[in-house]
Amino acid sequence: MTQKSIIVTGAASAGGLGFAAARLLAREGHAVTLTDLDGDNAADRAEELRAEGLTATGLAQDVTDEAGWAALVDRVKNETGRIDGLVNNAGIAVLKWTADLDVDSWDRQINVNLKSVYLGCRAVLPVMQAQGSGSIVNLSSIAGLVGVPGASAYAASKGGVRLYSKALALEVAKQGIRVNSVHPGVIWTDMQKVAIEDNPDQYDVINAAIPMGRMGEPDDIGNMIAFLISDRARYVTGGEFVVDGGLTAQ
Ligand code: NAD
Repeated sequence: MTQKSIIVTGAASAGGLGFAAARLLAREGHAVTLTDLDGDNAADRAEELRAEGLTATGLAQDVTDEAGWAALVDRVKNETGRIDGLVNNAGIAVLKWTADLDVDSWDRQINVNLKSVYLGCRAVLPVMQAQGSGSIVNLSSIAGLVGVPGASAYAASKGGVRLYSKALALEVAKQGIRVNSVHPGVIWTDMQKVAIEDNPDQYDVINAAIPMGRMGEPDDIGNMIAFLISDRARYVTGGEFVVDGGLTAQ
C-alpha cells in the first residue's frame, strides 16, 4: 500500500472523532497531519502516535482562517510531497432555540462548521488536481439529515455540509477526486458530554432511544472515515454515510 498524506482537522481531543480517525489512518500506514485550534493538544496527540512508531504531525489551525489554510497546505505539501486526503472534522455545536439565537452565535456556527469546509476543500483542490487524485471527507451529522429542535443553527450548518459535499463531488468527479459526507448519530465525545451536562439523565434516555442500544464510539466513525479515504472506496463519491446505530432508520 502506498502511504498517503492526510490532513485531519479538529483532531486534538483525545476522545474525539478527529483523533480516532487520525489514529486509524496512521495505523493503516499513512502520514497524518492533525490540526486544531488547540495546537498544544494537537501536538500531544501527534506525539502519542509517533510513540507508536507512526507518522504524525500536530499543528495549530483555526479552520475559519483562509490564510491559515493556504499556509497549512503549503507546509504539508512541502513536508510530505502530496495531499491525498482531507478530513474536515473540526466543529462546534451551538445548541439554542431560534428565539434565543443571536446573530453572532449563528455566524460563528456557520463559519466554524460550514465555511471552514469550503475553505479547506478549496485550499487542497489545486494539489489534488495536480496529482489527479484525492479523497475529501466532510463531517456532517444526522442533524444534517433530519430536523433537531433546539439545534437549528447546527442543523443548518450540517445540512449545508451535506449538499456542499455533493455539489463539489460533481465538480471534481472527472479529476480523480472523491468527496463524501459522514453523518454520525450520537457519539460519546466531549461535544456530547457538553451537550448533556445540564441534564445527565439524558445519557440513559439517549442510549435507550438508539436501536442498537448504545451511543457510538469515536472509532465507529473513524472506521467509516478511514474507509472513505482509502482506495477501497475508489468508486464512492457524492455519498452520505450515516453511522448512527439505526437512529434515523426509525
Ligand atoms: P469535539 O468537540 O470532541 O472535537 C472538535 C474539535 O474541533 C475540538 O478539538 C476543537 O478544539 C476543534 N475546533 C473547534 N473549533 C475549531 C476551529 N475554529 N478551528 C480548528 N479546530 C476547531 O467534537 P466531536 O464530537 O469529536 O465532533 C467532531 C465532528 O463530528 C464535528 O464536526 C461534529 O459536529 C461532528 N459530529 C459529532 C457528533 C457527536 O455525537 N459527537 C455527532 C454528529 C456530528
